[in-house]
Amino acid sequence: MTSTVFVINSGSSSVKYQLINPETGESLASGLAERIGETNGHLRHKAAGEVVDLEMPLPDHSVALREVKKLFDTTGPRLEDAGIVAVGHRIVQGGKHFSGPALITQAVYDKIVELVPLGPLHNPAHLLGIDVAKEIFPDLPHVAVFDTAFFQTLPNEAATYALKRDVAEKYEIRRYGAHGTSHQFVSGLACDYLQREDLKQVTLHLGNGASASAVAGRQAIDTSMGLTPLEGLVMGTRTGDIDPAAVFHLQRVAGMTFEEVDTLFNKQSGMKGLCGDNDMREVWARVDRGEADAIEATEVYVHRLLRYVGAYTAELGGLDALVFTAGIGENDNRTRAALCKRLEFMGLKLDEAANNERGDGLRVISTPDSTVTVMIIPTNEEWAIAQQAMTLV
Ligand code: ADP
Repeated sequence: MTSTVFVINSGSSSVKYQLINPETGESLASGLAERIGETNGHLRHKAAGEVVDLEMPLPDHSVALREVKKLFDTTGPRLEDAGIVAVGHRIVQGGKHFSGPALITQAVYDKIVELVPLGPLHNPAHLLGIDVAKEIFPDLPHVAVFDTAFFQTLPNEAATYALKRDVAEKYEIRRYGAHGTSHQFVSGLACDYLQREDLKQVTLHLGNGASASAVAGRQAIDTSMGLTPLEGLVMGTRTGDIDPAAVFHLQRVAGMTFEEVDTLFNKQSGMKGLCGDNDMREVWARVDRGEADAIEATEVYVHRLLRYVGAYTAELGGLDALVFTAGIGENDNRTRAALCKRLEFMGLKLDEAANNERGDGLRVISTPDSTVTVMIIPTNEEWAIAQQAMTLV
């Protein structure tokens, strides 16, 4: 029987899951339990081409995962017969302790607890997911796959903030990055496809959250997210880079509390804050209608991308490949074209027809004589987690 991995991504009010063949990436079932803790919970389960939607109260993560288990029993495939050899857990914050996947022993569990202050929004939810998954799969190995692991190779000069040393050390303030599983996955595929181990590449994960990484060979040397996922690119609802003195200013001048500034920067800014929409399709539709705030928002978005690609090209000492991934990276030909146009100075040439063609899978969208190979590589974090989990079982 084929071995499979059950992958869990547990958030504060939602749990995403996927039963996956780690060899091929085939998804045998997937789904989502959302609005956990509210009275109007929702479950969506997809298997064998069928989608089941259920509304029910999901008071906590334990009830939610038990309902998921029932869905597997009623609509299949039965978990007992699914050949599951490991449970893979996505963990956002691994601090400086994890440079690869880890079997969740008591010591690893305790470390994830210890890292809660660095990942206050994510790690507590992951711990709930681990607790409940261990009840449902008591006899299977559980593996933690950290979003920060890929960035443990960052040189100190890239990971260190110029903050007073004793404060930075005491509170472990440094750049940990995020989206590492995705950057590692797509950059690895780029090396495989181009058959080069010395590839200098910039990977752009552009979804609702967005980040850029500089990858030399298969090692990350810089990334745009920092202590938290707020730093770096303009995102759906996050500011990305902003002068931290804006926080003091808003507290002093607007009388905002730090929670209000946190919400403003993380949830009400980015594309949404600039033009009222964080779905790029809607933003471009408004650009076409000549709406000034939408036009400006796309310009700010592309400018920030350009700044990072330029900086990372200098850090890498050149650029062989530029990789686009995630919702916007994979689907938004206009954002790709706008950025690539600004990179023509370095001999990068976009193949416009290839860029405009919709497709699946890895594809090259630069011309044969371009100095930089521009690629679209669909990310698949669940598959990457399943592959990494398999390395430990
Ligand atoms: P998340 O970070 O939530 O996982 P995704 O990687 O799914 O995000 O990306 C979501 C974003 O992808 C949406 O906000 C939307 O703007 C963008 N997107 C999806 N399809 C298209 C498209 N055809 N054209 C432009 N943008 C798209």
